[in-house]
Amino acid sequence: MKVLVINAGSSSVKYQLIDMTTETLIAKGLCEKIGIAPGSGHMKHSPQNGKPAYEVEIALPTHTDAIKAVLEKLVSPEFGVVSSLSDIGAVGHRVLNGGPKYAESALVDASVIKDIEYFIPLGPLHNPHNLSGIRACIGAMPGVPQVATFDTSFHQTMPDYAYTYAIPYKYQEKYHIRRYGFHGTSHKYVSQEAVKLLGAKAENTRIITCHLGNGSSLAAIRGGKCIDTSMGLTPLEGVPMGTRSGSIDPAIVEYIADSEKLTVAETLHLLNHESGVLGISGVSSDFREIEAVAENGGEPLYARANLALKVFYYNVMKYLASYYGALGGADAIVFTAGLGENSAEARAEITKPLAGLGISLDPEKNKVRGTVDITGNGSKVRIFTIPTNEELMIARDTKAIVER
Ligand code: ADP
Repeated sequence: MKVLVINAGSSSVKYQLIDMTTETLIAKGLCEKIGIAPGSGHMKHSPQNGKPAYEVEIALPTHTDAIKAVLEKLVSPEFGVVSSLSDIGAVGHRVLNGGPKYAESALVDASVIKDIEYFIPLGPLHNPHNLSGIRACIGAMPGVPQVATFDTSFHQTMPDYAYTYAIPYKYQEKYHIRRYGFHGTSHKYVSQEAVKLLGAKAENTRIITCHLGNGSSLAAIRGGKCIDTSMGLTPLEGVPMGTRSGSIDPAIVEYIADSEKLTVAETLHLLNHESGVLGISGVSSDFREIEAVAENGGEPLYARANLALKVFYYNVMKYLASYYGALGGADAIVFTAGLGENSAEARAEITKPLAGLGISLDPEKNKVRGTVDITGNGSKVRIFTIPTNEELMIARDTKAIVER
């Protein structure tokens, strides 16, 4: 079966077509600048069958126009990869928040659409656009099964004491305020790959996954099921990120709002977009740029770049150690996503203080990229780097649901 994976954001649609018989990529691409301005739009399509890549500035007023452009390219004689749209067996959609209802991906029907709409307050920046992608595909490919894969589903196995906030309980009942967690598809994928590397049965494993990219989160996974994760009701909670503060004293919100004459919404914008390692360093939200300044002693922002990295490493280490406690030990720690996969320095600095728990990595193996066992000599816990593949995870879920 060939599965089309769609990740529809506010102004973009990313896609991959995957042959699920061999789990190989057939084509990928993205549409950007959708509906940003009259006439705006950019599309890039990369067939993997030897045909040339296609890139163009093209008017994409709506998500429906973007999906139409994608489907046209998939079957085009010059740039296409399938002879007809009927070759596509199913479409898998990334959806941010399925609320407390969806512990698994779901075959889209009228009630699933209603639920994604209902949970818009829990994912106001994503759910509406995810839904646009679903509606556009239903319109363009009638009869083809559509599956919704929620970023929150994998975390639905958390026990109540891990997802409940210590605020009046009525707000959980009335407004569904609780920890949901995000990056679930990535945590699920890399933890399943780690189980393979451990050569164990999933039910006998304890794994801590560190998804460290622009957005970062950790998850504690016992027996293949998530028992805790660092992001919360929204992706703002947890470790500091590129531009997000991560967890802070909530009283800071009122302090900044009063002092700077900002509204709560403006203050939250600041915590989402101007904080994290960008806010501390004043350099960038991009870890590569911060690492570069932190290494170059001549830069005026050298000290703050170093501080930003130290704050980030320290907080990731604290979550790692607390999950080690929550799991009663660990069999593996996994690093994934842009920074987790690529920065040897981040992995080394984060794990250094864990030497006291008998956890260490091998400095030489740590330099290698890809799926690598970087466990140090005598370490009590295995340490892996595993490139994440959220699209493949969505395609696997989609195939499983359609074939059920
Ligand atoms: P997103 O959350 O947008 O998917 P990614 O997972 O692609 O983000 O991660 C992006 C982050 O990873 C950026 O901060 C980038 O600087 C960082 N990164 C990517 N490659 C490296 C590298 N070689 N060294 C350090 N940081 C890296």
